[in-house]
Amino acid sequence: MLSLEDKTFDLFIGGEFTEAAGGQTAETTNPGTGEVIGHVAQAQPADVDEAVASAHATFEDEWGSMDPYKRGRALEDWAEILWDRRDRIAKVETTDQGKTLREAQADVAFAIKTIEYYAGLTDKVQGEEIPVPGSRLNFTRKEPLGVTGHVSPWNYPFQLAVRSLAPALAAGNTAVLKPASWTPLSSLALAETASQALPDGALNVVPGRGSLAGDRLVEHPDVRALSFTGSTDTGIQIGKKAMEKCVPATLELGGKCPNVVFEDAELDKATKGAIFAGYMNAGQMCWAGSRLLVQESIADDVVDNLAHALENTPVGPGTDEASQMGPLVSEQRKQEVKEYIEIAESEGLDLVTGGGEPDDVPEDGHYLEQTLFKDVPRDSQLAREEVFGPVVTVHTFEDEEEAVEIANDTEYGLYAYAYTSDMGRAMRLSEELEAGVVSINESPITFPQSPFGGHKESGIGHEQGKEAIEHYTKQKTVFFKQP
Ligand code: NAP
Repeated sequence: MLSLEDKTFDLFIGGEFTEAAGGQTAETTNPGTGEVIGHVAQAQPADVDEAVASAHATFEDEWGSMDPYKRGRALEDWAEILWDRRDRIAKVETTDQGKTLREAQADVAFAIKTIEYYAGLTDKVQGEEIPVPGSRLNFTRKEPLGVTGHVSPWNYPFQLAVRSLAPALAAGNTAVLKPASWTPLSSLALAETASQALPDGALNVVPGRGSLAGDRLVEHPDVRALSFTGSTDTGIQIGKKAMEKCVPATLELGGKCPNVVFEDAELDKATKGAIFAGYMNAGQMCWAGSRLLVQESIADDVVDNLAHALENTPVGPGTDEASQMGPLVSEQRKQEVKEYIEIAESEGLDLVTGGGEPDDVPEDGHYLEQTLFKDVPRDSQLAREEVFGPVVTVHTFEDEEEAVEIANDTEYGLYAYAYTSDMGRAMRLSEELEAGVVSINESPITFPQSPFGGHKESGIGHEQGKEAIEHYTKQKTVFFKQP
């Protein structure tokens, strides 16, 4: 089992750990302390080619044609192995990514449930019979595509890798995953456990630079479907490359999600929800409720309650049980978020709380305080761009119409939250909010069986749910006439 004591971490290809071509490595560090955890092999294009070849051979020889029932049982075995090792994997995630152990444990549990959910679907990937005239049979088949390529981000490394791999494997494909450079370790642990339940080569993991290893994976001619989770800019580039070789690409991209609180909401619940949606994972979430829209009549109370709660939330190393928020993933990310805060302050925006670095945290960790600005103009940079850190902006509205207008005033459309006890309004909002997911009176929430995907510039396609299987199959229409 991959261990944090190992200090060197190789690529995982064809069921075994292997050095990168030329022996190149890069450091991976603990964001909570700044300490070097170890060195990770950096896949070169030749390594990606080898991983794709291994996945292709396993698809052709075994996985692609396996009895779907047996494929499902293999996925269940994998989930069981992961369940036995869930605490160790969560520790790896916290050490490499920074999130609190509680958050990492929840991510790993969610990922295991995702594998279990898709394990149950392997023998339900089916076409349909179509009524056509004459004495002929017309039906559709859903066939696996072959090798699928997966590029994942650093905010939920384990959970989001599994989110796209599980339906791909369940549909009979094999896979190559390129994890984010800042957080490769949990993906390597994932591959190692997969090899104990699935055939060698079914899942290969090639850490390395996005612009090198990621690019080769995206462009590789034998990679027949792509799944990308990350920034909108990179996603658009990958989408164009997918089109050039005519393969489907699911793109799960950025967000600037509104969290709308009406005066008839249960305020305690709404405050807790705003904290959870704004600051979980240090706010490094595509689905962060980073724009808090509050009805004018309750705005002062909500802001006061929120500020009080944030000022009393301990920030510290993810491994420390008392910490309710961990560090940012890297010094670079911390500086980028700080710059947003500094610009906002120089523009005279009203800082309610936070904005600086917390006391009593390890000196070389990448910590920021939970930060709240109020009365933020809708056209300010802070209100429009995805900050991807522990920063929430408060905006006020007069009535429902204005709330919806502000909520939809963004190029993103990933997730929208609203708190109200008026069920008629809740129904209207579920139609009017421009987002791939709308949650009323709860934030944030998702399940493996619930489709997740963005509208507008937040993406194309869906992960999770039955729909995700569609992305990883090709449909064939068959006509059959008696001779
Ligand atoms: P990113 O910079 O786009 O990177 C994401 C992944 O793409 C990383 O593995 C990266 O590798 C790789 N990559 C970069 N350039 C590439 C290229 N030219 N070809 C192939 N791969 C390439 O995004 P991020 O900063 O890691 O993640 C944050 C973003 O993800 C935010 O915008 C967030 O909203 C979004 N996100 C969306 C969802 C969703 O479900 N919609 C979920 C989570 C995050 P390197 O690490 O080596 O650069």
